[in-house]
Amino acid sequence: MDRKVRVRFAPSPTGPLHIGGVRTALYNYLFAKKHGGDFLLRIEDTDQTRYVAGAEDYILESLKWSGLKFDEGVGVEGGECGPYRQSERNKLGIYKKYVDQLLEAGHAYYAFDTPDELEAMRERLKAEGGSSQQYDCTTRHSMKNAISLSAEEVKSRLASGAPYVVRVKIPRNEEIKFKDIIRGWVVVDSTNLDDKVLYKSDGMPTYHLANVVDDYLMKISHVIRGEEWLPSGPLHVLLYRFLGWEDVMPEFAHLPLLLKPDGNGKLSKRDGDRLGFPVFPIEWTSPEGEISNGYRESGYFPESFINMLAFLGWNPGTEQEIFSLEQLIQSFDLERVGKSGAKFDPEKTKWFNEQYLRAKSNEELAQLIKPILESEGIINIDKKVVESVCGLMKERATFLGDIYKNGSYFFTAPTLYDAETVKKKWKEDSPKIVAELITVFSNTEFKATVLEAAFKTYVEEKGIGFGLAMIAIRLAITGVGGGPSLFDIMEVIGKEESIKRLNAGIENIKNEITA
Ligand code: GLU
Repeated sequence: MDRKVRVRFAPSPTGPLHIGGVRTALYNYLFAKKHGGDFLLRIEDTDQTRYVAGAEDYILESLKWSGLKFDEGVGVEGGECGPYRQSERNKLGIYKKYVDQLLEAGHAYYAFDTPDELEAMRERLKAEGGSSQQYDCTTRHSMKNAISLSAEEVKSRLASGAPYVVRVKIPRNEEIKFKDIIRGWVVVDSTNLDDKVLYKSDGMPTYHLANVVDDYLMKISHVIRGEEWLPSGPLHVLLYRFLGWEDVMPEFAHLPLLLKPDGNGKLSKRDGDRLGFPVFPIEWTSPEGEISNGYRESGYFPESFINMLAFLGWNPGTEQEIFSLEQLIQSFDLERVGKSGAKFDPEKTKWFNEQYLRAKSNEELAQLIKPILESEGIINIDKKVVESVCGLMKERATFLGDIYKNGSYFFTAPTLYDAETVKKKWKEDSPKIVAELITVFSNTEFKATVLEAAFKTYVEEKGIGFGLAMIAIRLAITGVGGGPSLFDIMEVIGKEESIKRLNAGIENIKNEITA
């Protein structure tokens, strides 16, 4: 590669960024960093009708949370190719110049057809049984444009301020070819392409023109984007040719779609709602006030979210699945991105988070969980206790919040005892066993191994079932039937509190049964 690698993420602020969009940004980022290149953020906001308030801020915040830093673009100081928002670029007249160039060279033409006339054309073609109803090299002659009308007529229409669009003039019968890094050669017959609108009389360029002009002016070396843009590839290739930029045309890589968990179709927000997983990186509130859940708010770590996304379409070719961002940069390769759609797997997504949670030190987790504990009114708690709780609970948690949710008994004594467990496991002898164990534990050092040894000696001497005695004290101390080793829990809670809970448990469980 002799050219400096420069890639861009070019979202349109038409709504919240879907996780597929974050994956596109991620692949661009990884590719740029791997090749020592630049990663740009360009906001493509020329379609005013689709503009959604708040969407741009949402995009910026999502990418910030994901940890993908831009070198240039909206939200970054400086940059030699600014401004990076297309609406601002348009005000500077950047696109108009190239529209004029295309018009002059005969690669584009004015068209004056009204929406009704366009509709009538489609109806007519449909009635005639044609396979397509496009505005193209065949139909343009029967429409109202600079090809069918006289030069005077065009001039007078323009002078009178009649609304118009500028359309690209697609050549007939030409093979248009480009090489896609992921898909190989893409070849189309130009006759199948339509004369897309490039510019409108309201002074706005369309996506196609602004996108190509900006990729050129921003010296983009590789266009890495979603598969939905593959059909636009041939038009973009033609525009590079028409504008005389063929020698600096970027290379293309069209990424595979993200599919529903069952593989049937594109992953949508509805799938997330139906199956209970977020499809947006962070929470989104629509202008109408509808809230959609996000990965951040669901308790995912950004590193695990990114790791999971990297694997939706790419794999390293080894067994390794856990990759830091730095490791992803080292290993990423567009050649290893697949052509076929990548199935989204909500369970695997959770699995990634569990791995990241477990890999964190107890000290770090204790720090991270502090706000959650504070919101539950648990303050002034010994740091060492919180660290021990994190150590015991992280193996059985998916999210940070689970540590408290499943282990609240570490901080507060139970007031309720799991009815199902009480019904099945709290036997007639249980109160007596707990009472005797209170005596045993009162004379035991509160260390898990010592407590366990004392407990074993007691059940063996008495000939009591190990499980029966264990569940009785577990219920009294935690209120639930499962969790980490009970002796570890007792060590963390301490002697005084454990004995207190055992005593209270006998009474409370009796009351619960008779209530
Ligand atoms: N603005 C387009 C989008 O919203 C960008 C497509 C491209 O990367 O060329 O996806």
